[in-house]
Amino acid sequence: MTTSTHQLDLLDNALDSLAEALAKFEEGDAGEPKAYKFAVLHMAHFIELVFKHHIAEKHPLLIYKEPFGQKLDRNKTITLWDAVNFINNEAADTISKEFRADLEWLKRLRNEIEHHRFTMDVPQVRITIGRLFRSVLEFLEDYSDVEIESHIPARTMETFQILSDEYEFRRRDALREADAVEEANPRDYSSGDDEPPVRLDCPNCDNPTLVLNEDSDTGYRCTFCGNEESDDLPATCDICGVQTTIGELDFWETEDGQPEGRCYYCSGRYHADKDD
Ligand SMILES: [Zn+2]
Ligand SMILES: [Zn+2]
Repeated sequence: MTTSTHQLDLLDNALDSLAEALAKFEEGDAGEPKAYKFAVLHMAHFIELVFKHHIAEKHPLLIYKEPFGQKLDRNKTITLWDAVNFINNEAADTISKEFRADLEWLKRLRNEIEHHRFTMDVPQVRITIGRLFRSVLEFLEDYSDVEIESHIPARTMETFQILSDEYEFRRRDALREADAVEEANPRDYSSGDDEPPVRLDCPNCDNPTLVLNEDSDTGYRCTFCGNEESDDLPATCDICGVQTTIGELDFWETEDGQPEGRCYYCSGRYHADKDD
């Protein structure tokens, strides 16, 4: 095998691993939590190969453990950490402390999976995989000619875009979280009960992610931006007890300084409008 084909193999294999990682991530998102495990393994493989490829571009022999040995042992290649050290020796902090910490996490997780000691913390796995992937993309953009996007198979393109865009990624997570709250609080509005709505549009971030939350003073919190307010939140008139929304109430200060919400009728607006 010539060194140049070896380099191509590294990149090809890296891209194959990435395609697998994306497909497994997508399966995980679709409700198959075990699939995240394989997403982790494939992602780890992708990162290792793409870093090795980066080193091989400097010189093809540099991916071997002992390029200066009398006889080159092609079975001994550098590890991911050799590659990381090399890159940082070239220019300090190219691989930042945070990026390195995420790589350590990935290594630990891979180890746990391989030794069947793996307990899945799905949200943490998703968030860290996303952050790692963006760090790698940033690294490739800044320091290499490797262009990933055109090699992404069409079927995993959506997942690629979500993983590479932090805002979209967080938004997707927030929507999933809101879905879960909705599932946990089934409502039968046709029964005529006055149960408060489970989910509303958030006026702060414009996502349908303002959901019931016991820890919130208003009873609601947005799973995306944390906002707890909306004119559409259910409210009760403090005078007559009618069910309405915050936006429909007028607020008055009572003598002891407490705000009092009054509906259209009790606030006197009805009479004022009628007299006009
Ligand atoms: Zn929001
Ligand atoms: Zn009223």
